[in-house]
Amino acid sequence: MASSFDIQAPMDGVLVALEAVPDPVFAGGTLGEGVALDPLGDTLHAPCDGEIVHCARTAHAVTLRSAGGVELLIHLGLDTVNLDGAGIELLVEAGQRVEAGAPLLRFDADQVAQQAMSLITPLIIAEPSGWRLTSHGTQHSGDTVRQGEVVMRLEPPTSRDAPDGGDATPRRIGEATREVTLGLAAGLHARPAARLRAIAHERNVDLELVHGATHVDARSLSRLLNLGLVNGDRVTLIARGECATAALDDAERLLSEAETDDPVASATDVPAAEAGVGQLAGLVASQGLAVGPLHHYVAALPTVPQVGDDPAHERAALSVALENVDHSLKTALGQAKRSGRSSEAEILEAHLAWLDDPALREAADGYVDSGRSAGQAWKEALDDEVARLQATGNKLLAARVADLRDLQRQVMARLGSAPSVPQVPADAIVIADDLTPSELTALAAQRPAGICLVAGGTTSHVAILARARGLPCLVAMGAMLESAEGEMAILDAERGLLEPQPERASLEAMRERIAERERARGAARESARKPATTHDGRTIEVCANVAGGAEARIAAQEGADGIGLLRSEFLFLDRDRAPSVDEQREEYQAALDAMSGKPVVVRTLDIGADKQLSYLPLPNVPNPALGVRGIRLWASQAALLNSQLRALLALEPLGSLRIMLPMVSGVGELRALRQRLETLASELGVSRLPQLGVMIEVPSAALCAASLAAEADFLSIGTNDLTQYTLAMDREDPGLAAQLDVLHPAVLRLIKATVEGAAGRCPVGVCGAAAGDPLALAVLVALGVEELSVEPSRIPAVKASLRELDAGELAEQLSAWLELDDGAAVRAQVKAWLEAPVTA
Ligand code: PEP
Ligand code: MG
Repeated sequence: MASSFDIQAPMDGVLVALEAVPDPVFAGGTLGEGVALDPLGDTLHAPCDGEIVHCARTAHAVTLRSAGGVELLIHLGLDTVNLDGAGIELLVEAGQRVEAGAPLLRFDADQVAQQAMSLITPLIIAEPSGWRLTSHGTQHSGDTVRQGEVVMRLEPPTSRDAPDGGDATPRRIGEATREVTLGLAAGLHARPAARLRAIAHERNVDLELVHGATHVDARSLSRLLNLGLVNGDRVTLIARGECATAALDDAERLLSEAETDDPVASATDVPAAEAGVGQLAGLVASQGLAVGPLHHYVAALPTVPQVGDDPAHERAALSVALENVDHSLKTALGQAKRSGRSSEAEILEAHLAWLDDPALREAADGYVDSGRSAGQAWKEALDDEVARLQATGNKLLAARVADLRDLQRQVMARLGSAPSVPQVPADAIVIADDLTPSELTALAAQRPAGICLVAGGTTSHVAILARARGLPCLVAMGAMLESAEGEMAILDAERGLLEPQPERASLEAMRERIAERERARGAARESARKPATTHDGRTIEVCANVAGGAEARIAAQEGADGIGLLRSEFLFLDRDRAPSVDEQREEYQAALDAMSGKPVVVRTLDIGADKQLSYLPLPNVPNPALGVRGIRLWASQAALLNSQLRALLALEPLGSLRIMLPMVSGVGELRALRQRLETLASELGVSRLPQLGVMIEVPSAALCAASLAAEADFLSIGTNDLTQYTLAMDREDPGLAAQLDVLHPAVLRLIKATVEGAAGRCPVGVCGAAAGDPLALAVLVALGVEELSVEPSRIPAVKASLRELDAGELAEQLSAWLELDDGAAVRAQVKAWLEAPVTA
């Protein structure tokens, strides 16, 4: 007959009864019976011989299985998962066999004690496999025990025992159950549901979640979500497989611990302004005020045939479309992970999980069998799913509808033809997850009152286009925006606030402010046609940033002194192939014509990183923002870029044209391009070359401004990218948008270095978003910048504020501000200085 089985103390320590552990999950025995130790050492050792079946990713817990199948969880301290491994060193790995007393993990007791709730270390019988705890050795709570002393004794299973002594139903080998109380503020929404499914996959177990009488297989994201579980709900998890207990450890941790980037929290974490009751905050991507009904933008679905062919054929077509989408999602996931965009990666993981959901596929196959085409069947299956999610009444789940719609669209796009742009009511405030540049352009043509985006950054291309059109726009508003409703909302894209259901009085006050603005704008437009001269006599050229000829015409009306940046890539985006030389020439010529002889700066194609072309696949590199982009494309895409130069050299009058090169990091790139331009010009019989300038967007260009200025005709600082590369913060990352400030002293020092390097050689302008920022533009002019290029709608305001500025006086403050800690500190000083009453 098998003898009893002893479990040893994993280290020297003071014995603590499990009931006395200050954590209800351990004290209440949810995880199993056991003891705890208040450590007197810094290393946890194996309490018996066995195999390591699980090591927590965060290194704070190890699960060991004995030869008799007993699984022991050794959990260093309480709430130590939050340390994310800091101060803990794992000495073993899953799958390793160890003998009793072998070291498992070492920890820095001071560090862990300071950051964790407690160092008390539970030793839990997580899976007894029929063994019964009969004694706790000879010691009592409060006694000091030595590592290796017996602290628990178990008796072997008898034939009468149920496998773990619990319920009457015999369990299969490798089956474990656990009750868990949901600790997710937002309930079981798509991300944790997708994660639960991934746990089952990673641990190779069948995982079931039971709520009331409903059993749901964790492989089905839709069924998990349809349970509509909310914070505080109790569920039972059943895992079957060799690593059942480890899977339950992971699942329990997932479900019971608050999410580190809880979507409820992140909705309010990102935005800059403090949202009051009934308000949602966001970052200002395009300034302005608006009132209007809220309208949720749902991109139209591709057109698919209603009726299907033979069902077998339709099923095969659906499989191919699903595989296709699966492939592109996985590629995007890889890119997101490699670039550290973790929230995007989680969303893509959730999309992949939906795509692989057997319940959705089953439903779609059902529709195929009843005669629908593959595309229509997928549409209807997802419509049903959307309706079910909406019926749960859980706002966060309902908000995931956007994800499902996205997936619906992606699969249908592979089975049908492109959709038209949906209509939005005029004067509505449009809410969307995110928009592509072409969606924004099509939307703007319908004249909405404003735009609010769940995601996005203030220097993204959508933000740039919204500013160009004077369309108030908030970005990075978070998931809470998805459930906002309002018949007449207020959008204050100056303070960064959306108020979906304002009081009548606030609404009236806002309408009055908007009317007043309009009157002031009319007057400013009048004087915008005149040059802008500062109080101390410097005339600054105020030019426009445009995407093409149509915006150049708006710029001319707004009083632009020229076009400081025509982003030619907008001509190349959202198409199947590159525009021809003639198409390009027409568009550039329209811009020149609109400006009637004033200078027009056309930037050569700036593709790569955030701007991708479907017909120009770039290598899938770990960090595309640092890869082949902008001028670096010349090496591999010479024909494409030559066609652009040809179109430019055909313009009239060439004396008004200036060509500007993006993403230059050294003078060699400028020389190579000048040579190419000369060759093409001589081929075309053009004798007088247009001016050739360089963008200063990366620190190396700023630091080498003198050598660039010696050979360039002008420099233009792209503050959007210069800030991104100086601060090493992705300009598209909403979580970093609030810190991505051009007024950071490091960025200002590079701008100063650029102006000083170029002094006496060539003029310097700024065409990044900072040129239109009322505080930043004052600093830029004080630093010596001679031209500002901004969105057309901002020209009147920028000229008006320049006329108020004494740049010389402000310049005297600069050296002190460059010593400050960060952008926020500089911003506060500049604001205070500009707002201070003028002294005689
Ligand atoms: C910039 O980087 O500041 C800039 C003007 O270029 P873009 O925003 O198009 O990258
Ligand atoms: Mg740039």
